[in-house]
Amino acid sequence: MSATPSDPLPAVLQALASGAVRVVDLTQPLSESTPVLRLPEPFVNTPGLTRRRLSRYDDAGPAWAWDVLEIGEHVGTHLDAPIHWITGRDGADVASVPPGRLVGPAVVIDRSAECAADPGYLLTVGDIEAWEADHGRIPDGAWVLFRSGWDARADDEEAFLNAGPDGPVTPGPDVEAARFLASERGIVGFGVETVGIDAGAAGGFDPGFPVHHYVLGAGRYGLTQLANLAELPPTGALVVVAPLRLVGGTGSPARVLALVAG
Ligand code: MN
Repeated sequence: MSATPSDPLPAVLQALASGAVRVVDLTQPLSESTPVLRLPEPFVNTPGLTRRRLSRYDDAGPAWAWDVLEIGEHVGTHLDAPIHWITGRDGADVASVPPGRLVGPAVVIDRSAECAADPGYLLTVGDIEAWEADHGRIPDGAWVLFRSGWDARADDEEAFLNAGPDGPVTPGPDVEAARFLASERGIVGFGVETVGIDAGAAGGFDPGFPVHHYVLGAGRYGLTQLANLAELPPTGALVVVAPLRLVGGTGSPARVLALVAG
């Protein structure tokens, strides 16, 4: 197939080959030490990753190595499907997410300075509107990625979960920001660097866990435990989200990549 003037892909491929467009990995490494959400009693918690060896170039498989995994759907960098939350129970499972929804523009709202000063910082509608005043309205089909700087803690489970006497202290949207993103903008998903798409204190909000409540309830998706958002511009990056096509899955570990100019 030869390139035609109307075919943009050769230019994209050329830009990738020349380095004019880079691929940034937004995925945290997944291992047995990946931090995992901890719910209080009486709720059931998810296991992280464990591996059982099948063979390692040995009698059980002389020329091959392979393992069996046990892992929760919501471990490490992962996608929340609408059916993860009761408000989205009639929505899509992971396998039903249309592929076109998994590739789209990334919008990065950076409040890392505020989160460094206040680890329980809550993203507000005012923050979102201030971002839009600088960069234009959040485009339809966008993945809104909240940069908190929390990825710097990703290798230290205690610092990452940041449990205090009254529960976890981690940043996330407040109730009105969650409702605004789900109801007043045509976003596809909301992504964070923390262990969940809601703030650590969000269990005590009304409604509880408002990002889960509103965003998943509106048939949109969540992305957690992202890395390297500092390498993305506020607008102009293209994100590719690749969860398992797990039938009936409420979520899935995902590889998340961004294409960035320059
Ligand atoms: Mn999840």
